[in-house]
Amino acid sequence: MIGIDASGKSRPAWDDDPVVSGWTGLPSMDGHCTAEVCVVGLGGSGLAAVAELQDRGLDVVGIDAGRVAAGAAGRNGGFLLGGPATFLHTALAEWGPCALDLYRATLAEIDSLEARLGSEVVRRTGSIRLAGIPGAPADAADEQDCQALAHCLGEHDIAVETYAGALGDGIFLPDDAVVNPARRALAMASMLAGRARLFEHTPAVALEPGVVTTPRGVVRCGLILVAVDGRLERILPQLDGRVRTARLQMLATAPVSADRLPCPVYGRWGYDYAQQDASGRLFVGGGRDRFAEDEWTQSGEPTAQVQKYLDSVAASFAGQSVSVNARWAASVGFTTDGRPLCTHVDDGMIAFGGYNGTGNLVGPVTARAAVALGIDGIEVPQYLGS
Ligand SMILES: Cc1cc2nc3c(=O)[nH]c(=O)nc-3n(C[C@H](O)[C@H](O)[C@H](O)COP(=O)(O)OP(=O)(O)OC[C@H]3O[C@@H](n4cnc5c(N)ncnc54)[C@H](O)[C@@H]3O)c2cc1C
Repeated sequence: MIGIDASGKSRPAWDDDPVVSGWTGLPSMDGHCTAEVCVVGLGGSGLAAVAELQDRGLDVVGIDAGRVAAGAAGRNGGFLLGGPATFLHTALAEWGPCALDLYRATLAEIDSLEARLGSEVVRRTGSIRLAGIPGAPADAADEQDCQALAHCLGEHDIAVETYAGALGDGIFLPDDAVVNPARRALAMASMLAGRARLFEHTPAVALEPGVVTTPRGVVRCGLILVAVDGRLERILPQLDGRVRTARLQMLATAPVSADRLPCPVYGRWGYDYAQQDASGRLFVGGGRDRFAEDEWTQSGEPTAQVQKYLDSVAASFAGQSVSVNARWAASVGFTTDGRPLCTHVDDGMIAFGGYNGTGNLVGPVTARAAVALGIDGIEVPQYLGS
């Protein structure tokens, strides 16, 4: 399959960014150490936990089984969208007013990320939600839902505009932003590595209260934070039934018409999405709902059927035929009620994940709640499942 390397492994096109491809890496752990807190998993959420702990002056060790953001955090669509995966009007109806608190917390998270990483990494482009996808007739129910969302956002003083343009009809959300997700995570890790001990290629092979065991040493600590979204139930089988892993897939194209997508664009209820980088390449994902049964899997490799569907989605977003040069997938966690999970799993051990496909901002928000729970004993907000 095009975009799969000689070893048969897929590779996210985000890694073509010179800052990402030039990443020299962090050491792996070799020997024992002690810390006040050990964070397991250095995706966007684990790194946010490390940052929060550092800001409190705590002594932190962070480990990742692979490179920083080896999982979904470095392989996703790069959308920084306000709110949870469930659209705000629906979340308000299902969860109550706490859904609005989560929406506001995610917008604050964009500000905080931009302040830390700069506007070159966090681009404040806004986002477009389309009813349907470009070039296809809009679905009436999707159109109505866009309007219901716009009405709800307006009612709560969250910026929203009508979009009607070359891509179709929908709404524009000016507060949203976009990143290269791998670059975002590596930039964050670079900033944190000077003050926290961060290790790559250091999997936790056993977790018990106060002890994280890795292949070449153990971390002894007062608190363990497990910051893993997809496959969380494999690391912590006691969470089986509360989180369920799904695969999400993407591809990237050769450059298409410049400025075809003015900002990240998602359509068809958010199931299909694309962003365009400065070189004109499109990064396109979606289709999980079309192949739902097959995509409930812990495999993180792309499949021919979803990728074939994404070829057609890419052509729709591009408005022309496309040449695909990278294909990849990764695992994410889903919860039954759409609320992310942040819960004690043992004495001094908290796990968080299950962002339902939208963890770039919700993950860091949840990480802060996990730190508050573990360090201050503050109960998690209602918008999280505990
Ligand atoms: C194709 C795709 C597109 C997506 N698009 C978007 C989007 O546009 N916007 C958005 O908000 N969300 C999106 N998501 C969801 C988002 O990527 C995730 O919710 C988010 O990245 C989760 O980050 P995380 O840090 O919580 O977990 P993860 O990214 O799962 O990171 C966990 C880390 O833990 C490490 N790890 C796992 N096991 C161990 C172990 N035993 N020991 C040590 N380390 C371990 C992994 O190597 C990994 O680096 C998308 C996901 C995918 C797959």
